[in-house]
Amino acid sequence: MSVMDSVKKVGFRKVYEYLDKDPDANIPKLMDWVDKFAGDGPNSFPAQRAAFRRAIEDPDNNWYRLIRSMWTDIDDEVRRTFFENFMLNGNLIGWPKQQENRERYGCNIPWAILLDPTSACNLHCTGCWAAEYGNKLNLTFDEIDSIITQGKELGVYIYIYTGGEPLVRKDDLIALCNKHSDCQFLAFTNATLIDEAFADEMLRVKNFVPAISVEGFEEATDGRRGDGVFQKVRHAIQILKERKLPFGVSCCYTRANMESISSEEFVDGLVEWGAKFAWYFHYMPVGNDAVPELLPTPEQREEFYRRVRDRYRHTKPIFLLDFQNDGEYVGGCIAGGRRYLHINANGDVDPCVFIHYSDSNIREKSLLDCLRSPMFMAYHDGQPFNENMLCPCPMLENPEKLREMVARTGAHSTDPESPESAEHLCAKCDAYAENWKPTADRLWACSHACAGVGADTAARQ
Ligand code: SF4
Repeated sequence: MSVMDSVKKVGFRKVYEYLDKDPDANIPKLMDWVDKFAGDGPNSFPAQRAAFRRAIEDPDNNWYRLIRSMWTDIDDEVRRTFFENFMLNGNLIGWPKQQENRERYGCNIPWAILLDPTSACNLHCTGCWAAEYGNKLNLTFDEIDSIITQGKELGVYIYIYTGGEPLVRKDDLIALCNKHSDCQFLAFTNATLIDEAFADEMLRVKNFVPAISVEGFEEATDGRRGDGVFQKVRHAIQILKERKLPFGVSCCYTRANMESISSEEFVDGLVEWGAKFAWYFHYMPVGNDAVPELLPTPEQREEFYRRVRDRYRHTKPIFLLDFQNDGEYVGGCIAGGRRYLHINANGDVDPCVFIHYSDSNIREKSLLDCLRSPMFMAYHDGQPFNENMLCPCPMLENPEKLREMVARTGAHSTDPESPESAEHLCAKCDAYAENWKPTADRLWACSHACAGVGADTAARQ
């Protein structure tokens, strides 16, 4: 560790201890210090700092309630580990290291790595590619360990498991948390394998957070995942809450469930469950058997965007991420290693969890060489794929871009069961992209011309 990183660590721990002693009194005081330090320059985020200050000074504010709940609902040591691994290692130490390596190697260096420990799953959800991939593929413990070790060399401290059902490998995942105690791990999981013994292990290692997949309430979740799954999810949540372990949820919105999954009743339900974040994903028509009819209409996507931005983010004490509509906060598409990449259970290094075209396998190349491969460099050179950040994707909103990148680089489908051509995939997105564009252009123009999209909504009402 460099001298500068050691200094950051000591400083961060002092600040955290100060906060931890009396968060109500000390968070606002900390903002006085941040304001003094940040100054008034154009890159000092004055509006964001003012908004954050307003939030933390008002006990009724939803952000205040969310931050405060970290001290009431979460185990002290788990919270401390999360702040240290996520904020200090993942950002304050990791980010400059990533930036340095971006410049040194002239390629994207990610902030997080998604990986599938296994293609196996204990459920058989409708439309899930894990079921189609079968139960044959696994990354070994040593392979995952090597990915994390290589990642840390490049400055990556955030690892997110997908699958398959990652908890099929729960003993290995805990051992990896133990070995890489300076990293933060998150897993997209159906939660049915979370039991008391596993939760005790989570409490011991302190750096593992589940994002539980739900489709909505009981009928919708069981309809897709199988009878009784919703009640098992509720039971798993109970086990987590008893141990003061943090968790979030992940939800996929489609034309069929958009209304219920973005209803106020559902979001309030998530808050009541104790979820600290909800990660919403737009349905993607990936795979030969995908159903393009489930793609949300432009009207539905706009309504979803407005509900999250204009209403829930100002009122609900839960951190809501809207993966397809939040591009402006991260400069558009984050895949291809720009902020993340995906490694499947066969070792194929995909640019994105939804884009299964690759020219690299982690069993044959180093992580850095995968990032410098033609497909990843095509992402690097092509980003952002659209100036309108509501059209970030080279597949969904700009399908001509993915067609071109795959053709130029010779990347192949990494779906081992039923390889889908880029043409087949992109053809399912052409009409969607054309239909969404006028709405996206209007919203994007408005979000710049008006004083925020909220003002636009107010003007319409
Ligand atoms: S490739 Fe598409 S889905 Fe993946 S991160 Fe980029 S914009 Fe999002």
